[in-house]
Amino acid sequence: MKEIKPPKKPILFYYGIAIVILLLLNSFIFPAVMEHSVKEVDYGTFLNMVEDGKVKEVEINDNTIMFKPVKTNKVKLYKTGVIDDPQLVTRLHDANVKFTKVIPRETSPLLNFILSWILPFLIFIAIGQWLMKRMQNRLGGGSGALSFGKSNAKVYVEAQTGITFKDVAGQDEAKEALQEIVDFLHNPKKYREIGANIPKGALLVGPPGTGKTLLAKAVAGESKVPFFSISGSEFVEMFVGMGAARVRDLFKQAQEKAPCIVFIDEIDAIGKSRNSGMMGGNDEREQTLNQLLTEMDGFDPDKGVVILAATNRPETLDKALLRPGRFDRRVPVELPDLAGRESILKVHAAKVKLEDNVDFNVIARATSGASGADLANIINEAALRAVRMGRTKVNQSDLEESVEVVIAGYQRKNAVISMKDKLTIAYHEIGHALVAAKQSHSAPVHKITIIPRTSGALGYTMQVDEHETILMTKEQALDKITTFMGGRAAEEIINKTITSGASNDIEQATKIARAMVTRFGMSDEFDMMALETVNNPYLGGDTSLLVSADTAAKIDAEILNIIKSCHQKAIRILEENKDKLHELTKFLLEKETITGEEFMKILEAKTAEI
Ligand code: ADP
Ligand code: MG
Ligand code: ZN
Repeated sequence: MKEIKPPKKPILFYYGIAIVILLLLNSFIFPAVMEHSVKEVDYGTFLNMVEDGKVKEVEINDNTIMFKPVKTNKVKLYKTGVIDDPQLVTRLHDANVKFTKVIPRETSPLLNFILSWILPFLIFIAIGQWLMKRMQNRLGGGSGALSFGKSNAKVYVEAQTGITFKDVAGQDEAKEALQEIVDFLHNPKKYREIGANIPKGALLVGPPGTGKTLLAKAVAGESKVPFFSISGSEFVEMFVGMGAARVRDLFKQAQEKAPCIVFIDEIDAIGKSRNSGMMGGNDEREQTLNQLLTEMDGFDPDKGVVILAATNRPETLDKALLRPGRFDRRVPVELPDLAGRESILKVHAAKVKLEDNVDFNVIARATSGASGADLANIINEAALRAVRMGRTKVNQSDLEESVEVVIAGYQRKNAVISMKDKLTIAYHEIGHALVAAKQSHSAPVHKITIIPRTSGALGYTMQVDEHETILMTKEQALDKITTFMGGRAAEEIINKTITSGASNDIEQATKIARAMVTRFGMSDEFDMMALETVNNPYLGGDTSLLVSADTAAKIDAEILNIIKSCHQKAIRILEENKDKLHELTKFLLEKETITGEEFMKILEAKTAEI
């Protein structure tokens, strides 16, 4: 953490004040003091005083004559100018006055030289040093731009991280892969004896918030060795050459502390492929990367320095970094599955007080796609909500509500929505739910709400799968798109007009339809041809087309076909269940939020009951 100091007044300000004070002293105070004790008189007065025997002692200088009177009542010392007066000596001798001529001081040439050349020089150097030091301090605790090549690597010793594999839930494969490194750091002899080389580096790759940084800390905690942690961006400094110096410094420190772990977080900041620069590359980054490559080759693996790195953009890394002997071991840290989510929730829930009836499985099922960081956040939101509600323990509803907070934002209870809009929203949401429920490959409806959220959602239908599926069948994909169409379809049937409320549905449906055509090989037209590649799978996964403009147009037509047929299907389903659509909407309008069970109960009841 850099400490941000309040801006101080510039040094020049203090200099200014000092100079002004000196000037004032010089021109007013000193002369006044001198004036007081030394009185200047003319030569005649001096001679008269000598003749009258009023002078006790005389000192003749080059330009002035100083003399002390016999009676020192007020003036202790007089002064007068020197006049070419050959009689002076006799006069003084006659008057019996003690007198001397001051011997002009012969300064030695050496002393002179020192005083006029060396001393000012030394003073300047001293001031310079002092300024440097001040500036350094100001640039962040001695680690700023002027501390050339000193690395920022912080040493986290086990006692400080205190994190072990127990704190990392799920991620069993990753833990297993890293366990070997821990084992090596504990007992390197075992490996050396058999002649095995332990990997020098392991690269943790995965989406943000899945626990990569946490895992690295846990490795350090488990092996009880020092843990150097530095972020890739910290290497890239304001001066060229600094990054390389930092790398050198870091590895030097690490080798002194071996066995230890060096952790380079977000390594893509320096490890980007060297030929990927559109604008002719970045010299500084390349230098840093080269230094890193050299250092990784340079040290003896037997010493026990293990390098871990983390990134969520592995595809951008330079190939040289990934070759055997460097980061040859890749440890995927993926988004947690159902069981993983449940155990992550439990790890974090251990820190809060819970009601007995809490069912983490329900929460885990409702949060497919959430990362470890999201889940930690959900637990914390739930605890905050419990406090807000004046309870001392977290209960199931806190958790369920906080899932929605993390997904869709806080409730906007006082948002003003007209009755007409509210009705449209209710039909829209029931449209989604009804279409989902009437298809065989859709996930069951879990909750429907028309309470608006801060994310801008005016209402939503939550579907939760019983079991988590990894593969998506073509039928499931089509049913998903059809469900997205359900909202708009309901508006069309009931209101005979359409609103802007379906914009998000349209976006999501199109995304699925596009992936079906371009990446999943689910269209007849293109069969199994790859039409798109995913650019960065761990960060949003945007894609780029690989095809000619002609084909692109055909792809668009194909996507449109899928969407149109799903839209028709949604309309058909709702037309067939128009009574239920009305009935459920009425119920939702009254309650604002209904559960999947309530929904299914009404749906399955005989229509005659209304
Ligand atoms: P990243 O992969 O982006 O480095 P972090 O390791 O920084 O993610 O994780 C952020 C936070 O999320 C952690 O501090 C932890 O609280 C929580 N978290 C993420 N994954 C897990 C996990 N598998 N088990 C427990 N907590 C996790
Ligand atoms: Mg991280
Ligand atoms: Zn919708």
